[in-house]
Amino acid sequence: MRVSILSAFLFFALAGAAAAGTKRPDWVKLYTFDCGRVTVADKDIYSDGGEYEGQSVDLIAPCFLVRHPRGDLMWDTGVSDTLAGRADGFTSGIFTFHVEQTVESQLAQIGVTPDEIEYLALSHWHSDHSGNANLFAGSTWIVNPNERAHMFRDEAREGRGFQYYKELESARTMRITGNLDLFRDGTVVVMQTPGHTPGHLSLRLILPKAGTIYLSGDLYHVEENRTHRRVPRFNHDRAATLSSMDAIESNLAIRKGRLIIQHDARSSGTLPRAPEYLE
Ligand SMILES: [Zn+2]
Repeated sequence: MRVSILSAFLFFALAGAAAAGTKRPDWVKLYTFDCGRVTVADKDIYSDGGEYEGQSVDLIAPCFLVRHPRGDLMWDTGVSDTLAGRADGFTSGIFTFHVEQTVESQLAQIGVTPDEIEYLALSHWHSDHSGNANLFAGSTWIVNPNERAHMFRDEAREGRGFQYYKELESARTMRITGNLDLFRDGTVVVMQTPGHTPGHLSLRLILPKAGTIYLSGDLYHVEENRTHRRVPRFNHDRAATLSSMDAIESNLAIRKGRLIIQHDARSSGTLPRAPEYLE
């Protein structure tokens, strides 16, 4: 009897430890996934000053999983997995999209399924960020109400990209109008950076070794836009974009953080790729 009670105790103790070990890290980790790339035939759209006239640009489209002791946050979802394996990619206007590996298969490599992820936040609604959003419709979606309204307006519903995120309409939703300290310990903060779209968001992390990291969504598309404060022609609000740049840059200077430009391989391409992670 004594042996069996001890065995039962050990079984539950070990099972508990195993579950905690796979599901809950002891500290914050940032996983970066290859969630497609976009070749843009006319880079001119990325500055309303005309500096990029006649150029093209290759952008990468990473997406991210932040693992925190009290939950997981998916940040952006990349280009749609439905394009995976298409050698010629998919062309729409000046954009050609390619996907090599699905998000789901990359999450599986680190032992995570989409339905286990507690939170989803998109930097913004564009299809190179929301391409797999439906996968996370079971998560709690963190969104600015202006962005949400923009995503579900009549005109957006008729767009090709709508199919990729339409299931978020009925997702459990956390509407935020200010910055959100998600786990109330300052390590994962969703920040309001409107301008590119009505409710564009950025993410600030504090990692135990790497320190303060900003994932800036499409506040900047390439390094030169940050250096010269260039505003894309298709941004929703130019003045708001510049204010958001100022807010992030002053926040970053105080905290001595590192800003990641998601679409620029010279920036986000230096992050460790899953299954490796930044900690
Ligand atoms: Zn983008």
